Amino acid sequence: IATAGCNFNCKFCQNWEISQTKPDDNYNYALNPEQVVEMALQTNSRSIASTYVEPTIFAEYMIDIGILAKKRGILKVVHSNGYINAKPLDDLCASLGAACIDLKGFTEAYYRELTEGTLQPVLDTLVRLKQKGVHTELVTLLVPGRNDDMEQIRAMCHWIKTELSPDVPLHFSRFYPMYKLKSLPPTPVETLEAARAAALEEGLRYVYLGNVAGHAGEHTYCPQCGVVVIQRLGYQVKPVAFQDGRCTKCGQPIPGIWKQPEIT
Ligand code: SF4
Repeated sequence: IATAGCNFNCKFCQNWEISQTKPDDNYNYALNPEQVVEMALQTNSRSIASTYVEPTIFAEYMIDIGILAKKRGILKVVHSNGYINAKPLDDLCASLGAACIDLKGFTEAYYRELTEGTLQPVLDTLVRLKQKGVHTELVTLLVPGRNDDMEQIRAMCHWIKTELSPDVPLHFSRFYPMYKLKSLPPTPVETLEAARAAALEEGLRYVYLGNVAGHAGEHTYCPQCGVVVIQRLGYQVKPVAFQDGRCTKCGQPIPGIWKQPEIT
């Protein structure tokens, strides 16, 4: 679910045609929160995601959907840039099942130059999500020559490990030329692999590669015995050594949301 608009202007935005415009300038469906939840129930959808543009710009709508969804046992999830004040974030957390937050880089200079936003509020959001106990995953788009310095990546991973948890999943995503960065090449796969190796060395336990369908970095590995517990190919997900939130080979718990919320 999305409207149009965003509080950032990322030079690499893949959805810039809707993120950098207004709802009035787009073709829209009119759906109130009750209709959204009803549609989810009719289609046996187990979750409702706010994504594509920046959901904080329609926070009230998202919160109302989340409150209704929670009552009906549907998980409300959000993919956000994390640039949100504490009060609306607290309101959102009350009905939020899980969050995927873009940690786009790890310097203020990168944020200012590439996104027109700032880093510190995003870090504050991540700490607050942890305090609220919301399952949170991170995505870092690696843009060639801009945020792919391995020392910077290591510093970011160290911060994640010490300020959040080594169990927070981190997804390094492959950049493809678009919007205002058409002149750059796609991220070399070797760079993504080096970033993943650095993150694992820094102590993060669930590090993934995204936008590289078929790569072994898409799978979930048991941090204890190393077996592939969940296999992925693009959007296909297959548990292979995983049951009831644990590795079936060694019994190691794998953090995540594995059960549908109860109807309240
Ligand atoms: S925050 Fe997301 S939606 Fe907004 S401009 Fe950046 S990439 Fe696009």
